[in-house]
Amino acid sequence: MGKIVDLHCDTISLLAKTKESLKNNGGHFDLLRAKRAGIGVQFFALFCLPRDNEDTLREILKQSEKYYCELSLNQEEVYPLMQYEDILLPVNQDKIACLLHLEGAEALGSDVELIHVLYRLGLRSIGLTWNYRNLMADGVLAGDQDSGISKKGRQLLEEISELGMILDLAHLGEKGFFEAVEYYDKPLIVSHANARHLCPHRRNLSNEQLKALQMNGGVVGVTAVKDFVGSHENAYDLIDHIVYISELIGSDHVALGSDFDGADHMVLSGVEEYQNLGGLLERRGFTPGETENILSGNALRVMKAIL
Ligand SMILES: [Zn+2]
Repeated sequence: MGKIVDLHCDTISLLAKTKESLKNNGGHFDLLRAKRAGIGVQFFALFCLPRDNEDTLREILKQSEKYYCELSLNQEEVYPLMQYEDILLPVNQDKIACLLHLEGAEALGSDVELIHVLYRLGLRSIGLTWNYRNLMADGVLAGDQDSGISKKGRQLLEEISELGMILDLAHLGEKGFFEAVEYYDKPLIVSHANARHLCPHRRNLSNEQLKALQMNGGVVGVTAVKDFVGSHENAYDLIDHIVYISELIGSDHVALGSDFDGADHMVLSGVEEYQNLGGLLERRGFTPGETENILSGNALRVMKAIL
């Protein structure tokens, strides 16, 4: 397996629109570059801007079709990760494990049981909402109106915990964040966010949120989106977030979540820049063991506990 786990990209939703290929495209992420950069596991988000629930469901299904078409066209390079043990199989040794994620549960409408259908379709990670309020929870843009996770949302948490699906708190409002830490009985991820102390963006995590994640045993995937990195907005500033979070809650809770193809302005030009990250971390004082955990070990620990 490659040395790097990345908890979030929007490549599949983008390719579903542009009709480009996963193997080789003009975006931030393709298989040729990912392989060279040493990617071992990549989470792929299904995403569409929240609108009519039925519409959203159709869009999500079309994006999953793109995902599976691309996976079968590139069987020598990739495979869909359904359970943790798949990573250990000799046949998958040199391939990239792909994990299907749903960014926002609008597609379920109020039908919590549909999560079982999506699980059968290979979905292994989910975020309750994307920035706004839906039937499950309020997102980060709810602001003063934030009423956290709904009754339906709590039912959904029970189902996904039972199914063995990863819960992603990126985009969830603060009230819901702390409720999820309380209700969800497994390690959590925040797939793509940075430290609010260094960059005061709503989508970034406060010190209290980071400490709650530490208590829970989860991980935050630091993201390369410029707006969430702040300062001079280059790769070194991204390392600053990793250093800050590690000093606050320990490097065991830091992972990577690029958000490749999810935003126009990034501090990394694309997945190819990941190959320099290990060296940059060691130069900033992380031991080889800590570096390996940030690049992959921490994320794998959470995946193993759930999948
Ligand atoms: Zn996102």
